[in-house]
Amino acid sequence: MSNKEDANTTIVSPIYHPISRWWSKETVAIVTGANKGIGFALVRRLAELGLTVVLTARDTGRGLAAVEALKNKGLHVHFDCLDISNQNSIEKFVTWFQQAFGVVDILINNAAVSFNELYENSVEQAETVVRTNFYGPKMLTEALLPLFRRQTTAARILNISSRLGLLNKLKNPKLKAMLLDEENLSESQIEEMLNLFLKDVKNGTWKSNGWPQIWTDYAVSKLALNSYSKILARRYKGNDEEQISVNCFCPGFTQTSMTGGKGLHTADTVAAIGACLALLPVDELPTGKFFVIGSSNPIYSKL
Ligand code: NDP
Repeated sequence: MSNKEDANTTIVSPIYHPISRWWSKETVAIVTGANKGIGFALVRRLAELGLTVVLTARDTGRGLAAVEALKNKGLHVHFDCLDISNQNSIEKFVTWFQQAFGVVDILINNAAVSFNELYENSVEQAETVVRTNFYGPKMLTEALLPLFRRQTTAARILNISSRLGLLNKLKNPKLKAMLLDEENLSESQIEEMLNLFLKDVKNGTWKSNGWPQIWTDYAVSKLALNSYSKILARRYKGNDEEQISVNCFCPGFTQTSMTGGKGLHTADTVAAIGACLALLPVDELPTGKFFVIGSSNPIYSKL
């Protein structure tokens, strides 16, 4: 796979051999928050590789403009409006999707928000951040689970996450112990943790209770997403009837609106890697992993 030079980092794709093509035009991928940034680049990459791709966006105008931009490059993708923070929008989308496609092979939960500039740490919008970045992907995933293709190619969920939400950013020992106990960790424990965080925000006590210190609300939402991904991976691991792999991918500091255009990587670079991860051949497809792009090592995954 190709090397691509960014401003400061040489990034190598995780795949050291040409992708062995297991997919076809019948393989259906959904990408959320795909009118711009990494989501848009992921849609383009997957469409270039010949999959059927559904580009979703919360704003119809912005979504259709993105579809048009791809059309101008000779790529045909499908569109439907999807606000992941809104249960009604999810239900409408899933109904439309079921009628239009019936099955899904790949779900990339990409949409997310942060309301902070790079060096700010306001938690004023904590509720929206948690609802969008954690409950959004969770609600969508749960609604789509019955539609995943049950076949030997294995369905895939790739959650675009952040290393800001890794466990080492959490200093609260009790919560850390709870999240580390992966065998027993439950969804309700994750939600209790989020309630505790939002309560701390409301009470103005969030700075002293061991929460991550950078982009705190965003980091907590991604911490919850990473933990939920592990639970989901565990649910399907070793299940031959229902093969669904669930992994997280941190693209690293990437030039998008979220970072005010700053970053070490372009959206296209990380989308190329993200697409490779979503398209790993079934015999190399892990589950429950957290992938990050490394500068010296091409990519590594943390348990
Ligand atoms: P952008 O801000 O460029 O894109 C975010 C996308 O999410 C936009 O399309 C936005 O839509 C959409 N979105 C936001 N809220 C919703 C919602 N409720 N429903 C549907 N779509 C929504 O950010 P990036 O491309 O950088 O981010 C993509 C992913 O990568 C995110 O998960 C982010 O956390 C992650 N990431 C990014 C990093 C970076 O350095 N850029 C680093 C680590 C992780 P709209 O245009 O309507 O606002």
